[in-house]
Amino acid sequence: MIDFHAHLDLYPDPLSVVREISSRGMYVLSVTTTPSAWKGTSALIQLGSRVRPALGLHPELAHLRSGELALFDEYLPQAMYVGEVGLDGGPEYKQHWQAQLAVFDHILRACKAADGRTLSIHSRRATSAVLDRLEAFQGAGTPILHWFSGSRRELERAVALGCWFSVGPAMLVAEKARGLVRAMPKERVLTETDGPFAQVDGESAKPWDAGRATAGLAELWNMPQPDVDMLLHANLRALVTASREAVQILEPASS
Ligand code: MN
Repeated sequence: MIDFHAHLDLYPDPLSVVREISSRGMYVLSVTTTPSAWKGTSALIQLGSRVRPALGLHPELAHLRSGELALFDEYLPQAMYVGEVGLDGGPEYKQHWQAQLAVFDHILRACKAADGRTLSIHSRRATSAVLDRLEAFQGAGTPILHWFSGSRRELERAVALGCWFSVGPAMLVAEKARGLVRAMPKERVLTETDGPFAQVDGESAKPWDAGRATAGLAELWNMPQPDVDMLLHANLRALVTASREAVQILEPASS
């Protein structure tokens, strides 16, 4: 099972979530919302774990934390994954649009200069703007649009730009979102939860709720669930292989 967008550091008891992930043999990308959360999130991950940390600066925090971009640059050489980054065009964040753009551009430029990264990207109410920035910084890496909610035309443009998609349980309920998921290339889809922010049955999603997304994809694609599971793991392998070939990562100093 794969959760390619979870915020492990934001659970009340991250270590118990990490233990459950390990016992289930899950693959998890633990995104961060600020560069200062990178060290703590990295420290959660034990040797041999299938959890990977991502270095991020969330667009909803861009105007408050742009001072941490120096820290972003400092940690980037150790980070194979970048996220959560992107743009948010919602009414409550639109006033900070210029700060969001400055932060996202800085991050894409830095990733490009570092030969590319795998990026988990937020694009709520800002899909076209996110795609514009990805187009302006080609070579920044492989973009995975998390919880995609754009239009059909934006989806086609994202696919043409080489984007991947991480799909959570909530995207497999409403008919509009299901239509979008149906139009995504199967070989560029991964599952996610966005826990603990996203809800499943009125509670904070846990990484293992990604299984519900796998089940939803099986139904949508009319495939047996074990086959979908195999396909998703093959997708993840392809993504990781491609990023390893693209970039030489400096291992963080063991401490
Ligand atoms: Mn998130």
